[in-house]
Amino acid sequence: MKNSLMKLGLISLLATLVSSVYAQNYFDKAETCLKVADIKAIENQFPQFKDFTKTSQDKVCRQEVGEKWFELVRSTLAMQRLVVTDDLQRDQNDDLTRRPIGQRDWWTYYTQRANRYVIEPSRCNGNPNVVAFVYPFFRGSINLCPRFFEMDSASQIEVLMHEVRHFDGHAHVTCTQGNEEGTPGACDRQIKNGGSYAVSVQANVELSYVEQLNSADRILAESGAIYSVNNKFNSLPTVKATQYIYASNTEGEVWRMAEKNTDVKELITTLADPAKIYSNGSQFTVYPVDTTKNAYRIDKDFSVNAAAIGAFANKYNADADRKAYGPVVYFGMGAIVKDNSLYAFCGETATDLSALGFSRGTIKALPTLKDEEGADKTLVLNDSGDVFTFDCNDKTGVMSTSATKTTLPQEMAMGFELSNSKTIVLTDAGELKSYDLNTRAYEATLSQDNNWVSATPLKVYNVFENTPKK
Ligand SMILES: [Zn+2]
Repeated sequence: MKNSLMKLGLISLLATLVSSVYAQNYFDKAETCLKVADIKAIENQFPQFKDFTKTSQDKVCRQEVGEKWFELVRSTLAMQRLVVTDDLQRDQNDDLTRRPIGQRDWWTYYTQRANRYVIEPSRCNGNPNVVAFVYPFFRGSINLCPRFFEMDSASQIEVLMHEVRHFDGHAHVTCTQGNEEGTPGACDRQIKNGGSYAVSVQANVELSYVEQLNSADRILAESGAIYSVNNKFNSLPTVKATQYIYASNTEGEVWRMAEKNTDVKELITTLADPAKIYSNGSQFTVYPVDTTKNAYRIDKDFSVNAAAIGAFANKYNADADRKAYGPVVYFGMGAIVKDNSLYAFCGETATDLSALGFSRGTIKALPTLKDEEGADKTLVLNDSGDVFTFDCNDKTGVMSTSATKTTLPQEMAMGFELSNSKTIVLTDAGELKSYDLNTRAYEATLSQDNNWVSATPLKVYNVFENTPKK
C-alpha cells in the first residue's frame, strides 16, 4: 500500500516537472495552443489537419481552431506521443492482461485504420450516451459525438482505439448481462474474440500505467477497464481479483479485510474527517459524517481525488439541506435518499436524476443483494423491517418499488451480499457482522469494535494492485 502511495506521489511530482520544461503537453486537456510543426508531422495521416497549418505562426490556439477541432488535433497528437509500457505480464487466467493489439506502437495501428474525423453528425442526436461510432464501409472515418470532447485524455485515446478496431471486422451485439442488459449493440460476446471492447479493456489497463497521463486520468482508465470487464461482455471474462470489505469508523480510519480471511485487517488510511465510504468501480465516494463538509471521490488508495464525483455527490454538495439526506447506494440501480424520496437514473437516455416518493414507511437502508444471475440489486429496507425491490422501467423511465418476502435484520444501517447469500451487515450500533440470507441468522461478528460508520465491498484486481514489472 505504502509503495503505491509513494509511487503516485512521485509520478505527480514528475508530471509537474515535465510540464514546466515542455510547453506542449498534448495529454493535458487544459493545453491552449498546439505547435504547427507538430501538426504538420501528422497531417499526411489526417489531411483535414492541413487547414490548421496554413499559417505563418509557429502555433495555433484553441480560439482559432475551434473547441472541437482543437480537442481532436490535441488527442491525436497525444496518441502519436503515447508510450505504452507493455510491462504487464500476460496471464492465461487473467483476461485483464489480454492484448488483442499485440504491437506496442498504437500510433501505427491507429493510422493504418483512421484518416478522417466527422464532428457531431446528426446520428449523435439519437442518444446522448453515444460517444463515437464508425460505419464499417466508410473505412478511415471516425464520427465523434458531443460527449467525446468532454472526456479526459485517457478516455479519448481508449475511444479512438475502440473505434478503429471496428474496421478489422468486429461488430457489437445486444447485452445479455450487466448494467446494460437488453441494450442493442452495446456489448461483445466474449473478450477472447478480441473485438472493440476487448481493445477498450486493453487500452484502459495499459493507459492506467502511462506516466504521460496525470494520476486522475490513470485512475479513470482503471475504472473504465473494470466497468467494461464486468458489463461489456455477454460471457463474463475470467479475472484475478480479491474481494475485500472496506469499512470506516468514527475515528476516520479505513480498514479492509479479505472476504476469505476476515481475521486479518489492514489499515488503509486515516481520513481527515470521519466519513461514510461507498465503493464504485475502483474508487470511493466519501460523505463526511459532518454534513457541513463536502462529499468527494477518491481512488482506492485514498490518495488521488477525482474531478468528477458523480450525480449523487453533486446533488448532495449543491444542497443546503444536507440533514434531509438518508442512505446512498452505488450498486445495482443505485440511489440517494432525500426526504424519504429515492433519486436515481432511470430510462434509456436518462441524463438527470428522477425522484420517487416512498410512502411505505421510512427508508432506513438501501441494501444490495444479488439476483438469480448474480447481478447486484438495490433494495429498500424500511423502519418496520420490510424489504422492497427498487426498479426502473428503461422504456418508460418510470421507477417503482414493490414488497418482497426477503428478511433482513431490522437493525441494518448498511448491507450488501457478497456471495452465496453471505451478507455483510453494519448495524445501527456500529457493529460489523455477516448474515446468512438462507438461515436468516448472523454467522459471525467480523470485528470486536462497534465504532463502524460504513462498510462497502471492493474487488481489487491483480493487474491494478501490482505495480508493473520493470
Ligand atoms: Zn463500438
